[in-house]
Amino acid sequence: MKKYSIGIDLGGTKILIALIDRESGKVLEYVKKKTKKEKGSKKITKKMIEGIEELLEGKNLDEISSVGVGAAGQTDRKNGIIIAAANLDCYNLNIKEILSEHFNIPVFLGNDVEIAAIGEQKFGAGKDCDDFVCIFVGTGVGSAIVKEGKVILGATGTAGEIGHIIVDLNGRQCACGAHGCLEAYASRSAIEHRIEGALKKGRTSCILDYLEPGKSITSSMIQKSIERDDELVLQYVTEASEYLSGGIASIINFINPELVILGGGLIDAVDYFYEKTIKKAKAKSLPVPAEKIRFKKAALGDFSGVIGAGFLEDRVL
Ligand SMILES: [Zn+2]
Repeated sequence: MKKYSIGIDLGGTKILIALIDRESGKVLEYVKKKTKKEKGSKKITKKMIEGIEELLEGKNLDEISSVGVGAAGQTDRKNGIIIAAANLDCYNLNIKEILSEHFNIPVFLGNDVEIAAIGEQKFGAGKDCDDFVCIFVGTGVGSAIVKEGKVILGATGTAGEIGHIIVDLNGRQCACGAHGCLEAYASRSAIEHRIEGALKKGRTSCILDYLEPGKSITSSMIQKSIERDDELVLQYVTEASEYLSGGIASIINFINPELVILGGGLIDAVDYFYEKTIKKAKAKSLPVPAEKIRFKKAALGDFSGVIGAGFLEDRVL
């Protein structure tokens, strides 16, 4: 077995590229590239190649088993094509062909939540469990379902889109075009919109002490405001947790997992949100699945994706 692999987490705002020790799952080195302003297939591909080259400098290529890429979007895993990653403005990008020709190393592709779930399963909060659901709360709400140790992909490879389960038939418009999707209520962006809307209407909040003009609200600003018992922030974080817990309860009833792992910036930073959400999710679930359900925070933080990507080569499609 070759000692190392390269894991790449291709997200909407950054590309994280890491050298993974395949035995311990440790991130040995990593390179971070911002993608906020430079989007499109050509620019993204160039950044990935540059990042991999930086990481491989002075290394023996014979010791690298593969490059695994997880992209935020829809992917054709078999052919290694990013079909659509709207946040990166990438469409029909054959990343497998490009990277394997450039580096002469096998390349594997998955999506961002899938790789995070694989990372948590192998070395994080899902280590002792074969049946769980990973839910990540950030700009959107994403999830992956692990059943009998395998990530369930679904007929079109898009299973796990918890962010687009409908929680209000006549509700807010979601980025996907539908109305009332969970992520329009329970994501960090949703909380941001609610807080900003209220501030515009003249309500006051101590979050203004942290908010610079033109900058957006972060999870840590939300946490700091909650520590000061800010009424407005507490109201909207509580509202979001009300919706998220409803979504999670539906998943618990539908899939009957042993464990729900929650991750992402908002979960990491805001304990109030995490605690409230899991308590209510349990209370809203049917009694029998609720009795057995366990909740955990994701354990690998920002690295769960790159670590999982480093093991995509072991996945059987
Ligand atoms: Zn939607």
